[in-house]
Amino acid sequence: MVQTTPLVDRFGRVATDLRVSLTDRCNLRCSYCMPAEGLAWLPDERVLSDDEVVRLIGIGVSRLGIREVRFTGGEPLVRRGLSGIVARTRALDPGLELSLTTNGLGLVRLAGPLAEAGLDRVNVSLDSIRPETFHRITRRDRLHDVLEGLQAAADAGLGPIKVNAVLLRDVNDDQAAELLAWAVERGYELRFIEQMPLDAQHGWTRESMVTAEETLERLEKEFVLAPAAEPRGSAPAELFTVDGGPATVGVIASVTRPFCGDCDRVRLTADGQVRNCLFAREESDLRAALRSGVPDAEIARRWVSAMAGKRAGHGIDDPTFLQPDRPMSAIGG
Ligand code: SAM
Ligand code: SF4
Repeated sequence: MVQTTPLVDRFGRVATDLRVSLTDRCNLRCSYCMPAEGLAWLPDERVLSDDEVVRLIGIGVSRLGIREVRFTGGEPLVRRGLSGIVARTRALDPGLELSLTTNGLGLVRLAGPLAEAGLDRVNVSLDSIRPETFHRITRRDRLHDVLEGLQAAADAGLGPIKVNAVLLRDVNDDQAAELLAWAVERGYELRFIEQMPLDAQHGWTRESMVTAEETLERLEKEFVLAPAAEPRGSAPAELFTVDGGPATVGVIASVTRPFCGDCDRVRLTADGQVRNCLFAREESDLRAALRSGVPDAEIARRWVSAMAGKRAGHGIDDPTFLQPDRPMSAIGG
């Protein structure tokens, strides 16, 4: 039995939730995430193999107290061997919480195999249910596939299904209530995420982003919202019941009401770098350690020390704030 060392930082926060990016590639081009074209992918040899991913997750689970693993990207469904990675992660510990954040393309085919492999639930990102707005944001005509994918995930038992939406000014900010009515009708839990400065093309501005406050004001014109009773804990979403419940809606005010003080996350990029924060400016290279024959105990030690440098907060509102070198699609959202 190996001893567990918690991933604790100097402010006493303990990371138990591991976000694993399986690829930086994607089949959509959401304007707040990627440029229309011209973003170079990681070269194949730098991307962790299935064995390497599972070994690092195993170190996290058996030695570092990881209790929850979420697969993300880029688009995790484009990673070949995804179901195998999920099954091997499930085999590490039947009590792990296993989830996936996806744009939904390909879920029609993969929802069943993923559920069988041991995935618990999915978050599907969808910013509009209008085909023309969907195309404007994602630069692809694939709304129908996302909607079918959502249904397939529900049918496969990958619920409760959460839907993540980003509102963009003068693009879909007038559609918040419409999206909520649609989600409530289908039993999906909708979460609005504030747009963050993580796009590859550095197009974000504080002035143009739609705040959680504005989103709530728009929703309250059509629905009665009341703070939900359940405690928020380390969850980033502030939850509200919709028209008396049981349906809820969440706002994730990453920029205007940051929740860094309760953060329990750590991230692993597709090329094997540990990041202690989405906005970290430093990474710790576990791929090089893996590939040079470093044993598990030493990799765990390096991972623990990578956490020690975690900053108190992301500092987006600080005049000295610098956007991370890597975009969200390469870090893993
Ligand atoms: N491709 C998958 C998807 O879209 O769900 C997984 C990766 S994506 C980077 C994860 C989440 O990050 C999505 O819900 C997406 O909307 C969100 N996201 C991407 N760029 C963002 C930004 N600049 N600000 C806020 N959320 C963002
Ligand atoms: Fe792809 Fe997800 Fe980024 Fe959209 S948000 S471009 S789906 S990685």
